[in-house]
Amino acid sequence: MVAMDNLITGNLNNIAHHAGNTHFEFIHHDVSNFIYVPGEVDVVLHFASPASPIDYLKYPIQTLKVGALGTHNALGLARAKGAKFILASTSEVYGDPLVHPQVETYVGNVDPIGPRGVYDEAKRYAEALVMAYHRTHGMDTRIVRIFNTYGPRMRLDDGRVVPNFIGQALRGEPLTVYGDGSQTRCFQYVSDLVEGIYRLLNSSFTDPVNIGTTAEMSILEFAEAVNEISGNAAGIIYKEALRIQGDPQTRRPDTTRARTILGWEPKVPLADGLTHTIDYFRQVL
Ligand code: UDP
Repeated sequence: MVAMDNLITGNLNNIAHHAGNTHFEFIHHDVSNFIYVPGEVDVVLHFASPASPIDYLKYPIQTLKVGALGTHNALGLARAKGAKFILASTSEVYGDPLVHPQVETYVGNVDPIGPRGVYDEAKRYAEALVMAYHRTHGMDTRIVRIFNTYGPRMRLDDGRVVPNFIGQALRGEPLTVYGDGSQTRCFQYVSDLVEGIYRLLNSSFTDPVNIGTTAEMSILEFAEAVNEISGNAAGIIYKEALRIQGDPQTRRPDTTRARTILGWEPKVPLADGLTHTIDYFRQVL
């Protein structure tokens, strides 16, 4: 297995457990530039991109490039090697959705020049490119639309709600809820996502598939859950963050495709997943 990353948002510690594994190789490379891999390749998994709103606002051009040029290069590699290809897409392709829950056939509500446009449009373009390669070259492709995911090895300062809240809770600080906290998300544990991606890869389904839980909760409810599980007594403070502009008010996947086509169901309850994740952050703090 070959892993590639330019590490602008990644961290080598996340693959430290592969040290000494002769079947694993890391190449420090930006996939927005031509990708060279010697030998045979069975599957290309294109997961490269900043994915946290804070990160893609910090790296807007890199985010657009990796969605466009990075996807082009990764598809080119897969085509040259006769490999299967999977794109990590996102619930952000639905933007601030006007259809709820979000079914894969919903085309979305995205502002191309809004603060999230650099990520949303890059991923929408990436999906278009994957389908064009599939239709034009008959390539064996998959698109997974990943909804909010959490778990160990997230970056404590990546700005997303899970590491933010857990970091604050472990420091005994109040949790920063942006706006009134009524905006909703569904949080899936990383092992459920991995299982969904694995099943999709082994299926023959080429249209996009949502992978996420349907347990929708408000950010305020989520903050209360983090405080309760971590034993943080400092409560909550409300913050009017600048980045709230374009913050989707609701988000919940319709997972009929994942359930019927892949036989997939998320298994890890929020309380268990949060407990594992809090334990992890306790070690790294
Ligand atoms: N959020 C929050 N406090 C924080 C960080 C995020 O209230 O410290 C909110 C944010 O406004 C959004 C939700 O939590 O409504 C999820 O944000 P995240 O950055 O995790 O990713 P998103 O789901 O928006 O892509």
